[in-house]
Formats: sequence, structure tokens, C-alpha cells
Amino acid sequence: MMPLMTPAELAADYGWTKVLAFGAHPDDLDFGAAATVAGLTRAGVEVTYVVMTDGDAGGFEAESQHTMTERRHREQREAAAHLGVRDVEYLGERDGYLEPSHAVQAKVVEAMRRHRPDAVFTMSPERDWSRLQRSHPDHLAAGEAVVRASYPAVENPFAYPEFAARGLEAFHLKWLMVYCHPAERSNLAVDVTGLEQEKLAALRFHASQHPDVQRMETFVLDGMEQLYRDWSTAHGTGEAVGAPGTARRFVETFQLVSVNDASTISGF
Ligand SMILES: [Zn+2]
Repeated sequence: MMPLMTPAELAADYGWTKVLAFGAHPDDLDFGAAATVAGLTRAGVEVTYVVMTDGDAGGFEAESQHTMTERRHREQREAAAHLGVRDVEYLGERDGYLEPSHAVQAKVVEAMRRHRPDAVFTMSPERDWSRLQRSHPDHLAAGEAVVRASYPAVENPFAYPEFAARGLEAFHLKWLMVYCHPAERSNLAVDVTGLEQEKLAALRFHASQHPDVQRMETFVLDGMEQLYRDWSTAHGTGEAVGAPGTARRFVETFQLVSVNDASTISGF
């Protein structure tokens, strides 16, 4: 059965005090994980966003690439601040052109070594054939770059010696929280009941991308509820939340990956 945990339980059970969260475009993290992020920051976890492209190819109005970049940076900063995110960093890659190149991996490793997070949020490198729009090529590239950086580069002291020379030492990452993943990969449902309005509030800041706010909100809430309904039906209503007959819960689902634990042997 897929475990159900609140953000506060996640932080306490896994000992998370610091999270680094990667997204391909401004708004990806808010679509995929905003409610969980809001819950983590309320539980005292320090969360930093790293947005890999400028989102300069997005939007519905004819705007110059330069003003769109500025606008989307501002929208993402405001949304993140609303959720209690400490900071937003931008890797400055061009929207629509992201590749899991060594240059991009180096930027990811640099950010990871600077922050030394307990967990990293990443988009999935796997294509979701059930809803192709989730698998924008930039999303897949972002996921691939972060997963490649997570092992082995971030923990290999001989990778990127120029970072070590700046005091950015190699370290072993413990957890990857994969979002925007194919549904069959879900292995953790985060109970974000009571935080759904925080997610909608964060998404409303991305007005350049979602001019039809009502449609966007319906889409988001339906998705959050539907996941729970499917899941509770599959596993017996109420069983998973531990209280039969409990009112509907809102969830965000993830593929939680243990990168390094007590049983990890390097290379296997
Ligand atoms: Zn995106």
C-alpha cells in the first residue's frame, strides 16, 4: 500500500532540515509540489528552489524574451515567498533548449554541494505516455541532469575538483523526491489536506502562464482529489488514512528514491 504521510511527518521521520528543489521552468515546482513545500516550510524545513530555465518561451502574449524572463522570475519569486521558500536560484538555461549536458550537470552539482540538502526534489526523467504534456523535453532533461548529478558526481570527490577547491566538498545525498512522474512510479502520497489553497495561491502568481485561473484551479484540485480517490478505492476506502469514513484528503504523490542509506555499496 502506498504510504500516506504529512509533510511534518516526512521531515520528522526522515530527518529533513534542508531541501533543494529543482524545476525546469518557473511554475513546475508549484504545480508538482507546492502544497508539500508549504507543509515542509511550516514544519521548519529550509527549502530553496532552483529553476533551470528562464521560462522565456512561455506565455500567451507577444512579449519580448527579455521582459518574459523578468516577469517569470518575479512570478516565481512571489509564489515561492508565499510558500515560505527561503530563496529562488536560476541556472539561466534557455527555455526549450535544456539538455542533461555536462555543463548543466556541473551547475546542479555546484548548487547541491553549496546547499548540502537532506533531500532533493526533481522532475522525473521518465516520459509519461498517459499525459504527454507532463513530459515536456525540458522536464525530462531537468530530471536526467539532476538524477545524473545525484549519483555519482555530487558524492565523487574526484568529480569537479574546481568545486572542492572552492570548499564545495562532495557529500552523499540521501533522498530524491521525484515529481511530475508517470503515475505507476508513485510510491508516496503526501497528505496536504488544508494546504490545497496554498498551492492554488502559489499557482495564481504565475499569471503569465495561466490566464484562465478558474480552469487551472479546477484542473489542479481535480487532480489532487482524483489521485486520492483512485488510490483509496484500490486499497479500501479509508484504510490508508487510518480512519474509516474520514473526509476526503488532498494528496500530492511522489516517487521517493533512497539514493544512499546504510546498505548502499558504491557502484552497485
Ligand atoms: Zn514546465
